Amino acid sequence: MQRISKVVIVGGGTAGWMSAALLGRTFGRTLDITLVESDEIGTVGVGEATIPPILVYNQALGIDEAEFLRETRGTIKLGIEFQNWGTLGHRYMHAFGDVGHYHGLSPFVHYFLRAKAAGLADRLGDYSLGERAAYAGRFGHLPRVPNTPLAGLNYAYHFDAGLYARYLRRIAEGHGVTRQEGLIQSVERDGESGHVQSVVLADGSRIEGELFLDCSGFRALLIGEAMGVDCQDWTHWLPADRAWAVPTENVGEPRPYTQSIAHQAGWQWRIPLQHRTGNGHVFASAFMGEDEARDVLLANLEGKPIAEPRLLKFTTGRRERFWEKNVVSIGLSSGFLEPLESTSIHLIQSAVVKLSTLFPDAGFDPAYADEFNRQMTAEFDGVRDFIILHYHANQRTDAPMWTACREMAVPDSLKDRIDLFRDTGRIFRHGRELFHEVGWLQVMLGQGIEPRRYDHMADALPQAELDAFLANLKTVMAGTVSRLPTHRQFLEGTGAKL
Ligand code: FAD
Repeated sequence: MQRISKVVIVGGGTAGWMSAALLGRTFGRTLDITLVESDEIGTVGVGEATIPPILVYNQALGIDEAEFLRETRGTIKLGIEFQNWGTLGHRYMHAFGDVGHYHGLSPFVHYFLRAKAAGLADRLGDYSLGERAAYAGRFGHLPRVPNTPLAGLNYAYHFDAGLYARYLRRIAEGHGVTRQEGLIQSVERDGESGHVQSVVLADGSRIEGELFLDCSGFRALLIGEAMGVDCQDWTHWLPADRAWAVPTENVGEPRPYTQSIAHQAGWQWRIPLQHRTGNGHVFASAFMGEDEARDVLLANLEGKPIAEPRLLKFTTGRRERFWEKNVVSIGLSSGFLEPLESTSIHLIQSAVVKLSTLFPDAGFDPAYADEFNRQMTAEFDGVRDFIILHYHANQRTDAPMWTACREMAVPDSLKDRIDLFRDTGRIFRHGRELFHEVGWLQVMLGQGIEPRRYDHMADALPQAELDAFLANLKTVMAGTVSRLPTHRQFLEGTGAKL
């Protein structure tokens, strides 16, 4: 097998520059890495909300958090608040980090369910440090105290995706990545092996490589157009296929959480940054026209728009294979899941980390591609189920889309999980899937799935001890949150200008 020495990254959006920065940092001394992007085409650039593993990615690059927040005009994200999802007027939060605390062998959920059945507990979020801090508008770095309710504050960021890509470009170039501006017009493949050999730019120049990363966005120039790998279409489970996006001026204090507000044929995001708020309305065109969807967004903004609304079209689904011969697709070229749980940037991170661990440094062994495809498929499908859960488990009777989603058949993997939770209150994380039990728990309860019973292990605790255990959790959490700086104070401490 031939040693790989030249990598070409096609595309300079979030996917291209995240890949370039990490591969540059990891292999920059031994690989020749070129990134090709076209200013004429531009980027999608609306990825603004993330989940906690982004901290691991930034740390791997040696990024200083304060500098990063200044450069990307970022804010802190402690979770996502869902309004109107289960029923109109109801809200719940999927907060990062633990909820409650293990007691003996039984997961916290069973103590909570027992107390709820006895009328002694009401909201799960009362036992979440993340949710309490989010609603108090507070944030600080909390040390982890093992075996206590203070397992630290898990968090992620909101940021300006365009500024993040620019920031990563500096890092990537610092590790020797070469940027080439130009419009790719054709792709050349080897007739025998089927491998991509080069991409040809509009000015006739040819960029050759041995390994190609397709980060060309929805165009999927290599994995789709050149290699012909099909996409699975998940519209029958996730009907949204369009989004209007518009930035507004900030109003009031920056919330340290994302808001997701369900409307009649989709939902709206609100993402606070230092210099503006990102807003968008994701909707299903089968249930609402484009003009009406734009009006719904404009009628539900908190601040004044600072640009014209922009329409984006997409199809939800994923590639049948993510790594085909010498092409690896990363980012939107590999598939799309609506940003309900802010997973797209994470899937980019996950793909580039997997590629680094399976890097074909000694040549292309098909086993690497198979393993990569297996892992990415499991990851995409797990996220898919989690997002379908939000749509499916609803009791809304005011609009046809919600009825259709409630009545649709869902993947067996999700159905089994819902049935088990409804019957027993039990939830299990499958393999290494992205969302842990506590994330599933918050969304299942938040969407109105009420378990019929709880685990008998939770009955081992005498009633008075259960009361004391729950009361103590609340006291410790309330005290801890009250001592945190406000979100504004934290950001100003990084040198941010709000
Ligand atoms: P793009 O940004 O489209 O970049 C493609 C690159 O390929 C560009 O540099 C382009 O110039 C280049 N290119 C294409 N064709 C050619 C050619 N012929 N020649 C040369 N260069 C070419 N993700 C999150 O994690 N959180 C969110 O909150 C979030 N919100 C979203 C909201 C919406 C409505 C949408 C649609 C997506 C959202 N995403 C979110 C997803 C996120 O935007 C993307 O995952 C991320 O931007 C990665 O995009 P990309 O780099 O794959 O593609």
